[in-house]
Amino acid sequence: MADKNAPGALDVITTPDYEAMVIGAHPDDDDFAAAATSALWVKQGKKVVWVVMTDGAEGSEVPSLVDTEFMLTREQEQRMACEVLGVQAVEFLRFSDGHLRNTEAARKAVVRLIRKYRPRIVITHDPSQLFFAPDPDEKPEDTAYLNHPDHRATGNIVLDAIFPAVGNPRSYRELLVEGFPPYRVHELYLFGTEHINTYIDVSETIDLKTKALQCHVTQFGTDAEMLEWIRKWTAETAKQAKEKKGLDMQYAEAFRRIKLYVPKQEEK
Ligand SMILES: [Zn+2]
Repeated sequence: MADKNAPGALDVITTPDYEAMVIGAHPDDDDFAAAATSALWVKQGKKVVWVVMTDGAEGSEVPSLVDTEFMLTREQEQRMACEVLGVQAVEFLRFSDGHLRNTEAARKAVVRLIRKYRPRIVITHDPSQLFFAPDPDEKPEDTAYLNHPDHRATGNIVLDAIFPAVGNPRSYRELLVEGFPPYRVHELYLFGTEHINTYIDVSETIDLKTKALQCHVTQFGTDAEMLEWIRKWTAETAKQAKEKKGLDMQYAEAFRRIKLYVPKQEEK
């Protein structure tokens, strides 16, 4: 901005603390999308934090469950999954499952967390993905998957938080008093996207990913088929990495990587 050197101008912090913050709509979204990548980075000595936007209260087919109890159970499952992966911190924002909107309150909550942890990379849902629909003529047996509105809302909330609010000294000035000054996120990784450009070799941590998903007992019980499906899906992604980028991997997680900020040489 033009008045960067004006009296009272606040420096925007560019040095990260955490390597990555994964932000998913529901307990288990972070696991599906980025559990193996998170575990890999943790193994490399990096810090990773997970965020869950909603309370997960609609993740059941039993109408009579008590919301609060179910929420706490799912949070506990998510904590156990993070424990398995070595993810150092997890935050629950507890917005209403199934009804998440890109509101002032949601954006501010995300700005607060990004400023608190200062992740180099933020990983979240691709908000532009309305559905995944195979061509009915090519795959007559397959059905489409409509992307959950909470997933799209999460993507939009996170993108709007990152720019301009997280790095703007005049956005959410009340957060300055709480000790959360402006910070610049370096990269954005989107999952649940048809615009993949980055493959992470997770052959080393695929087992941890399946173990983490097993922690979500309310969602999958002891469903061995689901774990088999995860392996197949991750192996299929590795095959794509070979076809599209010539990369040799057994298992891969895939993202659309977007660079937002490149530190100057002396900062690195
Ligand atoms: Zn979800």
